[in-house]
Amino acid sequence: MITFAAMDAAEASLGRAMTWAEALWFRYSRSTPDYCLCFQSFLILFATYTLAPLPLTLLELCVPSKMTPSYKLQSKVRLSPVAFLRCYKDTAIVLLLLTFGPLQLVAYAALKVSGMRTGLPLPSSGEVVAQLVAYMLMEDYLGYWFHRFLHSEWIYDNIHYVHHEFRAPMGFAAAHAHWSESLVLGFAAFISIVAVPCHMITCWLWFAIRGIAGVEIHCGFNVPFSPTKLIPFYGGAEFHDYHHHYGGKWNHSNLAPLFTFCDYIYGTHSVYRNQNSKIAKPKDTANINLDKEVGGSKSWKED
Ligand SMILES: [Zn+2]
Ligand SMILES: [Zn+2]
Repeated sequence: MITFAAMDAAEASLGRAMTWAEALWFRYSRSTPDYCLCFQSFLILFATYTLAPLPLTLLELCVPSKMTPSYKLQSKVRLSPVAFLRCYKDTAIVLLLLTFGPLQLVAYAALKVSGMRTGLPLPSSGEVVAQLVAYMLMEDYLGYWFHRFLHSEWIYDNIHYVHHEFRAPMGFAAAHAHWSESLVLGFAAFISIVAVPCHMITCWLWFAIRGIAGVEIHCGFNVPFSPTKLIPFYGGAEFHDYHHHYGGKWNHSNLAPLFTFCDYIYGTHSVYRNQNSKIAKPKDTANINLDKEVGGSKSWKED
């Protein structure tokens, strides 16, 4: 929390005039306790999970199937509005009631002890980028091993099966998971911030980027002009769609949440690589036996 009541005193402490971003942050945060700023991280994540899926959701629901762009990954699978609503409602309940509450109890204390800053000066753009890259790499490595653990028999049957309900995922399915999985993943998102302490603004950016990336890999569309295609080793929607489409507890393929190199290094990419010509058109097989294998079967229908 900024301890200066007036901008003049803050600038005197800095030894220079504030930048426009620092002046904005000063006005926004000077009367806001740190634990409220920390809680806003959860609000940003929740807003991302709510808003980011909307454009492609509207496209899938409102555009006739014959006009659905060719980059829909499983074009023969059309989810109903009821399926979208149920997925969002279930996810919101788990996140708001069972995940954010317990996390809030420990997240603020952990971040304060780790040395998270909320005052001035703001971090440079170079520091922000370096920290975000570090968070992505740590999250990807931890996420890979955690996801691999989730595909062990008992854990899958009792916990991870919830996330795999949608074999043709959509954006709202990014956080659709058992409450215990959401809770542990929430802790994992904080581990990197505790390991590499940052400014609160960087934390907010990280939560927004992580939320958008989660929505993107579950969106069900392989958008050709997505800027993420410029990121080296980035998995993207097609990579993770394969994991859902050929999902199940024995599918140990494409487990990393963001990049592809963990799957290459640890050998969990081979099936995907060998079938890469098929995954380019999972639409051809997506509707086979879905009613038998997927909960909420009424949400599925063919073109
Ligand atoms: Zn999985
Ligand atoms: Zn997934």
